[in-house]
Amino acid sequence: MAIRMAVRGGRAHLVVGDRLVDIERASGGTLPADPMEALARWDDLRAWGDGAGAAGEGEPYDVRELDVCVPRPRKVFGIALNYRMHAEETGAQLPPSPAVFTKFPSCLSAPTADVVLPSEFVDWEVELVVVIGRGGSRIDESGAADHIAGYCVGQDYSERRVQNAGARPQFSLGKSYDTFGPIGPAVVSLDAFADPDDLGLTCVINGETKQDGRTNDLIFGVPELVSRLSDVCTLEPGDLIFTGTPSGVGQARKPPEFLRAGDVVESAIEGIGTLRNTAVERR
Ligand code: ZN
Repeated sequence: MAIRMAVRGGRAHLVVGDRLVDIERASGGTLPADPMEALARWDDLRAWGDGAGAAGEGEPYDVRELDVCVPRPRKVFGIALNYRMHAEETGAQLPPSPAVFTKFPSCLSAPTADVVLPSEFVDWEVELVVVIGRGGSRIDESGAADHIAGYCVGQDYSERRVQNAGARPQFSLGKSYDTFGPIGPAVVSLDAFADPDDLGLTCVINGETKQDGRTNDLIFGVPELVSRLSDVCTLEPGDLIFTGTPSGVGQARKPPEFLRAGDVVESAIEGIGTLRNTAVERR
């Protein structure tokens, strides 16, 4: 059965309806409190999670209490230009292979954390984020799903001036300012979705829809990304893949638009949930 794992107070919880169940306590200590350890034991967690839901345990919570659902990944990959319509709006050629960059893990933040603006050039990118469960290297596309714990929503906030600086832009710094990687609100196992390869995702700013796409428009789908990345790097539990953003980003608009202090950014994927970040000045 599908499970949803969220983190509060540094401890892994199952989301059961509108309640949180502390995994370590409710399992009598047989499962870990640490979210990274819980991801490494995802199959055990799923087997146990059915019973926890049926028992109706847990306590009510507010989404603002949730922490980063994957707090300490060793690797956070980003994929540029992975939606056909987004590649077209940037004027770029469709890439022959995935264009991969790094979001350094220190940029990760909670689902309702403020996004701190270092400049007037910060842009939005709602993204499906893959969370690795079982590690591995040289993973076949056909077996990729067995290595995925689940999906969460991510925002790939991007400082466009830093991202595009220099003759051969490298994206990683412009996408790694502190607070530039909110994820969550929970890691949702793939069996929660009727079709995990066709999910609607939206980015709404101050109530206005800026991005509205579907993951079936991905150029390189999730199984291919897992296979290609694992051919280079051994994937480990909790590693994250930001899979790319659909069209509607600020820098492609005419005139270009960027975030201003006070803007409220809501990033949502159907069947997973919503991130809600308020932009604030850097102090
Ligand atoms: Zn992105």
